[in-house]
Amino acid sequence: MKLIERINIGGNDFQGTYECEFCENQQNNPYGYNDYNYFKNVIPSMTCESCKKSSMSGVSSKEGQT
Ligand SMILES: [Zn+2]
Repeated sequence: MKLIERINIGGNDFQGTYECEFCENQQNNPYGYNDYNYFKNVIPSMTCESCKKSSMSGVSSKEGQT
């Protein structure tokens, strides 16, 4: 998933809208945290509710797809 919109809700917490790179499904996550680890690790491993892929799984399973 990638972050497309961020709404600050106080401190380092934010509410985010995310879009899937594969099927363009959008979903909200009300528990974002504004730090390096979140952007580097948590968002890329977030799975799409529609196609069940994450940014990470998309890369690793690419060769297996036809
Ligand atoms: Zn998707």
